[in-house]
Amino acid sequence: MESDKQTPIRIALLGCGVVGGAVATLLTANAADLAARVGRPLQLVGIGVRRLDRDRGLDLDPALFTLDSEELVTRADIVVEVIGGIEPARSLILRAFEHGASVVTANKALLAEDGPTLYAAADAAGVDLYYEAAVAGAIPLLRPLRESLAGDDVTKVLGIVNGTTNYVLDKMDSTGAGFTEAVEAAQALGYAEADPTADVEGFDAAAKAAILASLAFHTRVSAQQVYREGITEVSAADVQAAKDMGCVVKLLAICERSEDGGVGVRVHPAMIPRTHPLAGVREAFNAVFVEADAAGELMFYGRGAGGNPTASAVLGDLVAVARHRVGGGRGPGESAYADLPVLDMGDSRTRYFVSLDVADEPGVLAAVATVFADNAVSIETVRQQQVRASGDDSYDDGQRAELVIVTHAAPDSALASTVETLLELPQVHEVSSVMRVEGD
Ligand code: NAP
Repeated sequence: MESDKQTPIRIALLGCGVVGGAVATLLTANAADLAARVGRPLQLVGIGVRRLDRDRGLDLDPALFTLDSEELVTRADIVVEVIGGIEPARSLILRAFEHGASVVTANKALLAEDGPTLYAAADAAGVDLYYEAAVAGAIPLLRPLRESLAGDDVTKVLGIVNGTTNYVLDKMDSTGAGFTEAVEAAQALGYAEADPTADVEGFDAAAKAAILASLAFHTRVSAQQVYREGITEVSAADVQAAKDMGCVVKLLAICERSEDGGVGVRVHPAMIPRTHPLAGVREAFNAVFVEADAAGELMFYGRGAGGNPTASAVLGDLVAVARHRVGGGRGPGESAYADLPVLDMGDSRTRYFVSLDVADEPGVLAAVATVFADNAVSIETVRQQQVRASGDDSYDDGQRAELVIVTHAAPDSALASTVETLLELPQVHEVSSVMRVEGD
């Protein structure tokens, strides 16, 4: 236990971009309150950056900035890493641990790729590793999973954890816009990067899903083990079809315990009923729905990104870790004792929406139903409706119909083989849409 109440706790900040700039500003502006909450002053001893001459528009002492982050981490009690990416962030964090510093990071990519290495190094050094800001920005979520729910059994985590894709899908839903148009709108508002690949292809959400699953199920899950499908193939027609069913399309991160004791972790677009709590999550907001044996259903909602919201989570961690420095002890380390097997996507069970463009002639429905039955996929509802104007001259619209089928829960592999066989039926012109249905 360190004693002198006046001795500052030395903070090194690595990175001074969107998040780091907000952390530095709040740390300086709220210094007196933070000192009172921690029991000792928090002193910013340096800020590691890549470009010293960058105009940051921040009211900070220029002498704090350094290009030598390796040296900076050796003279800190707590290192805040908000550089992002794998290297040099990983080496700097490991170096911080070697020098006895605790680490607060917002780096989902690194945690999802190499979390166990970081935990092991923190353990060896007897220090803390906190990362609340890595998933869902400002929303207190990881500490509730890691601490508040430590006495319960989490069965499912269903989350909207990427604000960019939620904005894009919400725009498509509310205006009828296509994917490209909605991405451009997100870019104009600063919700999407110039290169939106990490968001729209689901990489960002997959890293977060890995972190959530690891905490929820006390099992190591890496980003590579997460099934990932982005939203680039979601069309205006899919969004309209969801509307027709009383649903909305969302990019979901889904972590669940299966009946046979495995863990399924997947990120993909899915239809959810408009009555589900996640359906009302609009624009760039995030929300995570958690089901636990004893607690029942819980919902966490708020801003998942942005300088100040993310800095709020970083500073919350900083205060927690600083309090440990003052009072002694550490927060919880890695909990991976359950070591559950991570399931293949083919074994994941969900309901499906399937839309087929078929010949409008006797026997089609029976032929289609047989394919589903042969693959052991049970049909919940089937509806035949007029074909929407397609602009495709290769068929006579008068002889075509659209079959809209919703299945009961079935393994992903069974649905895949169903679709493959449907495409071989002469009466099926096209499988126009296949989407998973969640949240009932
Ligand atoms: P950013 O705006 O790109 O800032 C990155 C900062 O790191 C910059 O200040 C940059 O220095 C510095 N940097 C880059 N390479 C460096 C190196 N080799 N050595 C030292 N400094 C280096 O990034 P950000 O949006 O703040 O994100 C930071 C982290 O927070 C990432 O892990 C991200 O995933 C996470 N996060 C971000 C948000 C958000 O809303 N932005 C939300 C949740 C989590 P220069 O300024 O000199 O270029």
